[in-house]
Amino acid sequence: MNLLQRIDHWATAAPEAIAHLSGDRTLTYGELRRRSDGLAAYLTNRFGEDRKPIAVLGHREPEMLIAFLGAVKSGRPYVPIDTTLPRTRIDQILASSRAALSLTPDQIRRFSTAELRGPTMPVQKNDPFYILFTSGSTGEPKGVIITLACLEHFISWILAEQQFSERAEVFLNQAPFSFDLSVMDLYCSLATGRTLFSISRDLIENPKKLYRALASSGVTTWVSTPSFAQMCLVEDKFAEAMLPRVRRFLFCGETLAPQTAAQLLARFPQAQVWNMYGPTEATVATTSIQIDAAILEKYSPLPVGRVMPGTEIFIVDENGGELSGNERGEITIAGPNVSPGYVGHPDLTARAFFEYRGMRAYKTGDLGRFRDGLLFFEGRIDEQIKLSGYRIELGDVEANLRALSAVRDAVVIPVIKDGAAQSLTAFVTLLARTETSDFKLAHNLRSELGERLPVYMLPRKFVFLDAFPMTANGKMDRAALARSL
Ligand code: AMP
Repeated sequence: MNLLQRIDHWATAAPEAIAHLSGDRTLTYGELRRRSDGLAAYLTNRFGEDRKPIAVLGHREPEMLIAFLGAVKSGRPYVPIDTTLPRTRIDQILASSRAALSLTPDQIRRFSTAELRGPTMPVQKNDPFYILFTSGSTGEPKGVIITLACLEHFISWILAEQQFSERAEVFLNQAPFSFDLSVMDLYCSLATGRTLFSISRDLIENPKKLYRALASSGVTTWVSTPSFAQMCLVEDKFAEAMLPRVRRFLFCGETLAPQTAAQLLARFPQAQVWNMYGPTEATVATTSIQIDAAILEKYSPLPVGRVMPGTEIFIVDENGGELSGNERGEITIAGPNVSPGYVGHPDLTARAFFEYRGMRAYKTGDLGRFRDGLLFFEGRIDEQIKLSGYRIELGDVEANLRALSAVRDAVVIPVIKDGAAQSLTAFVTLLARTETSDFKLAHNLRSELGERLPVYMLPRKFVFLDAFPMTANGKMDRAALARSL
């Protein structure tokens, strides 16, 4: 059985089982199959042989799952887009993905109940299954293509490694569907006929409601960014009594601080904590390790673990030469989980992807090294950062700032505390200095920028300069700006 057949079989084996819980809405496996089949028939009828992607624009509605499966059952990849993104960004993604159509939950409801039935041709192993957009250094998001084979390689590894219990598992879904961390909870849950429990934006913004929802969730497997768990740990009651069934915390996407892991192990003595690592371009995660007391005692910072079977990780120097021993260099991933590339961008694809011993390989831009057979992440080669788990190219923020009419040039620097980015500061030179105060100027630029970029990419602070500091050889001195923070 491939992944799609595996998911569909739950409609027969347990049609009334809950596939998705989101707010007060539920979706059963029976409904998920019926509606996704309906949508697949609708799409096939409407677009025929044309296999352009289907954009799905929503938040955590059960319709999102229906649309994802409906699209792939009709042979088309889906492009998940979260409604928190500003319109300009959404339009860029739609244009760049060349989506045939962009579906909202309302439309999904209507189209998936259409009476049309007919043969559909689902995606095959090497066909694109989804396209996820991440920040691109030129100011335009780039779409990572993930095939069914990539996804299956990833999911079979996690299922084999984690051996989720046969009892009713409930997976926490914290990450938006437009962020590849959500692929882990979504497909682990659907493949095993379990329940996905989504927490929506309004819960995340209201801690009281959030803790109440978590307490009634029955979550057994927690999947989130470390930042989200850190935020929850601020409340002392966030402990076993609140989530008595939780057995696993699976983290990926950014550095897991030893203190976070230690606090979780102390507050949830029955649960395991796992650190996983990988870029969207290699399907969610490529390495993993269980963080227990022995690992905590031995390593700080924590390792990101061992590579999944069937995939190789090697460390290369600036010239692409493989490094041996424990030398530090660029982390490179080769295997069936590596994406075929970026949609519509052969140039970007050629720069980051290559063939390696008959496998697809990806240069992550991450620095790292092996020690005791374990991989350690040691920062970035370029200007990409993680802020609250979100992947941000500083160049993306800078390019969008430069596009504003008042801005001549801009440099964006992360404010670092305890080794992690806390916020962004923008250093800006203006085309013409108006009368308004710095405070007003900053406010205006921030709200203008908010029409182009998601909230998490907006600089918290703006500093206005007449000119940027230069290094001795005439380059912009980013280090001097960082020191001035
Ligand atoms: P994304 O494509 O959004 O998943 O971001 C991928 C990047 O996040 C990687 O290239 C790393 O820079 C970073 N990352 C992912 N997992 C970890 C981890 N466990 N520890 C440290 N950094 C991580």
